[in-house]
Amino acid sequence: MRVYNFASGPSALPLPVLERAAAEMTDVNGTGQSVMEMSHRSKDFKPIIEKTEALLRELMGIPPNYKVLFLQGGASLQFSMVPLNLAGVEPGSPKKKAAYVETGIFAKKAAEEASKYAEVHTRGSSKDKAYTYIPAPLPPEADDAYYHITVNNTIVGTRWAALPETGSVPLAADISSCILSEPLDVSRFGLLYAGAQKNLGPAGTTVVIIREDLLGKAPSWTPTMLRYDIHAGEASMYNTPPCYGIYIIGLVLEWLKELGGADAMGKLNREKADLLYAYLGGSKLFRSPVEKSSRSIMNVTFVSTEADPDKRKEKETRFVKEAAAQGLVNLAGHRLVGGMRASIYNATPIEGVKALIKFMEKFEKNEK
Ligand SMILES: *Cc1c(COP(=O)(O)O)cnc(C)c1O
Repeated sequence: MRVYNFASGPSALPLPVLERAAAEMTDVNGTGQSVMEMSHRSKDFKPIIEKTEALLRELMGIPPNYKVLFLQGGASLQFSMVPLNLAGVEPGSPKKKAAYVETGIFAKKAAEEASKYAEVHTRGSSKDKAYTYIPAPLPPEADDAYYHITVNNTIVGTRWAALPETGSVPLAADISSCILSEPLDVSRFGLLYAGAQKNLGPAGTTVVIIREDLLGKAPSWTPTMLRYDIHAGEASMYNTPPCYGIYIIGLVLEWLKELGGADAMGKLNREKADLLYAYLGGSKLFRSPVEKSSRSIMNVTFVSTEADPDKRKEKETRFVKEAAAQGLVNLAGHRLVGGMRASIYNATPIEGVKALIKFMEKFEKNEK
C-alpha cells in the first residue's frame, strides 16, 4: 500500500513517474538498456538529458541567455560555488562583498560558507523570532557582487511572497524546496539553484540556472569541478553527470506539463496549503508558528498549543506516531525545531492533505 508521504526531502514522487521508471527499468526507449547502464556520452542518453533541459526551460520560462546545469553535491555545495564563482578573488586581493538575508537555517549556512570567500553583509534576518517570518530586507549596495535569498525556507516553513528589488546587483536564490511549485520570473535572477530531492526528482542531482554574463568570473584557484563556466562549456558533461536522476527529473517534468505546468501547480498548491492553514486557524489543539504573510505553501509547520513543554512534546510525539499508523508518514518537524511539518510538494495529491486534516480533526476530538 502506498502511504501519504509528507517527508521534507527526499520526498514523495508522483506515482505515474515511479511506475513508468519501473516499466522502463531494464529497457528504456527500445535501447535494451537501463538508463543506469548507458554511457553518458552515448546517442541513447543524449536525447534524455536534452529532453529534461528543454522541459525545464519550457516549464520555468527560462530565457535563452541562461545556462541550465545538472550538477551533484546538493544545494549545500552551491553554498560554496555561488560565492566562489561570483565573488571569489585572486590571492592578495581584497575580498568582494556579498549580501545575504538570513531567513532560516539553510540561509544561515549559505552565508557562513560564503564568508570563507567573500565579505558577507547581512541585509535582513528573522533570527530574533526563530525565523518565523520573512524580514523587510535592506537594499543591496552598489558593490555587492550578488544578493542571496532562500525563496522557500523548508525547516520553519516560510516563503518570500515578493522578491526584493536588487537593481543591477544579481539576485541569487536557493529554490530547493519551491522550484516549479508556482510560477517564478527567472529573469529577475542572476542565478538559481535547487537540490532535486524536494520537488523535482531523486537526491543526487542539483539544478543550476545561471545568466551567461555571470560565467567566467571565478578566480584561477577555483577547483575545476566547482566552476560554473566549465560545466556550462561542457553542457553538464565535464565529467559523468547524475544520469539516472536527470532521467527521473525528465519524467517528473513530463508529468508536470501534463497537469498544466507551474500555473496549474501553483493554484493546486495554494489550495492544498489554504486547507491546512484554515484548519490550523480554527484548531484549539494545533497552531502554525509562522506569521501569516510569510507562510510557505510547500512546508506547513504546526505545533501543539499545549503550554507545558513536556506535555507538548508528549502530544506531538503521539500525534506523529498515530498518524503514521494511519498511513500519514513523516510528519515530524525538523530535528532542530521539533513540532510537526507537512511537506506538501507537487507530488502530494490534495487527497493526502484532506486525509491529514481528517486525521487531525479526529485526533483533536479524542483529546477532549
Ligand atoms: C534541503 C535544502 C537544502 C540542503 O540540500 P542538500 O541537497 O541536502 O544539500 C538547502 N536549502 C534548502 C532550501 C533546502 O530545502
